[in-house]
Amino acid sequence: MKLSDRITGLTGGGSDGWDIFLRARRMVAAGEDVCELTIGEHDIRTAPQILEAMDRAAKGGHTGYAIVPGIDSLRQAVADRVQARTGVATGIDNVLITPGGQSGLFAAHAAVCDDGDKALFIDPYYATYPGTIRGVGAVPVPVQAHPEDGFQPRAADIDAAADGATSLMVNTPNNPTGVVYSRATLTAIAELCQRRDLWLISDEVYDTQVWEGEHLSPRALPGMAERTLVVGSMSKSHAMTGSRVGWVVGPEEAISHMITLATHTTYGVPGYIQDAAVFALDQGTALEEDIAAPFRRRRAAARGLIARQNLVRLVPSGGAMYLMLDIRDTGLSGEDFANRLLDNEKIAVMPGESFGKAAAGHIRVAMTVDDTAFEEALGRVLKFAAQVAQ
Ligand code: PLP
Repeated sequence: MKLSDRITGLTGGGSDGWDIFLRARRMVAAGEDVCELTIGEHDIRTAPQILEAMDRAAKGGHTGYAIVPGIDSLRQAVADRVQARTGVATGIDNVLITPGGQSGLFAAHAAVCDDGDKALFIDPYYATYPGTIRGVGAVPVPVQAHPEDGFQPRAADIDAAADGATSLMVNTPNNPTGVVYSRATLTAIAELCQRRDLWLISDEVYDTQVWEGEHLSPRALPGMAERTLVVGSMSKSHAMTGSRVGWVVGPEEAISHMITLATHTTYGVPGYIQDAAVFALDQGTALEEDIAAPFRRRRAAARGLIARQNLVRLVPSGGAMYLMLDIRDTGLSGEDFANRLLDNEKIAVMPGESFGKAAAGHIRVAMTVDDTAFEEALGRVLKFAAQVAQ
């Protein structure tokens, strides 16, 4: 039986960028001692008090179908959080609760793109972006940011790709680079979206992980609230990756259609998970800061280690749980470097090439093992780079 082109073509025919990650997982399954610095998953688990809230809710009976847009208390908590952080008036009707940020990215593109529309996004990018766009029938169009600009995208490059485009997706703090977009970058992007009549899909799932500078939500820039869909999540901010709870914040009309989409796709998020999310958000920023703290520490330690040599350079990053290392001076591609590092040192990192073309010759290191193991592994990565440099 023939399957749809849409589903068989989701990854665009090539690799979806997860090869090294999967190879490392197979090595681990075979009993090898591999240090995995690949995916964006904390080394801690969800905090016990959040799990207790989940347990209370489940045992209290919140296990039936939950209302599709999300329970009022969670929509309100998200609206309050967004309003407090951005100053933009946000109410419950501006919020859809989704099963994680990923589902929000899909819903946001489904809301604004018709079949065959061009959907722009910045390269390097989170690995699911092109497939998410293809999944709604739109055409993914990457716009490269450049290492020499510290991977801050240039509005002129986006402009050059914008003919016939419907939407632009940006992600700050950024995965994979860790770069936090500057006010100048986002102001230029906002101006461009208005001039070219683009929807802006703003992936802000790392908004609590900012080590330098400040996170600016582009929805807060003048004229942007009516054309911006913000995607957020509890995954990274509250170490709730497996709970699958996130949101989209946007104009009421767009949200109301996304609720209809949710009715016909996900049918909402489990009630006990949403209750736990309300509890977690009620704890305020102290809990979020606790969860972010290990990455802040590891980044500081990494900067110290990297400063002691001058072969591998750290992309000037200010956020997220990753470091992007420029290994071009070793003469190896990111893929060759990562493969050889896995074979020789049993350390798994993601090649920059997994995230598009712009980060070729780079590797992404997730800071997701305990401090001692992380510093030891990074030291070995740097030593390995010196050994293989041609
Ligand atoms: N956006 C970015 C940039 C990510 O890195 C991730 C996960 O790694 C997601 C979205 C999706 O996160 P979740 O679906 O767990 O909320």
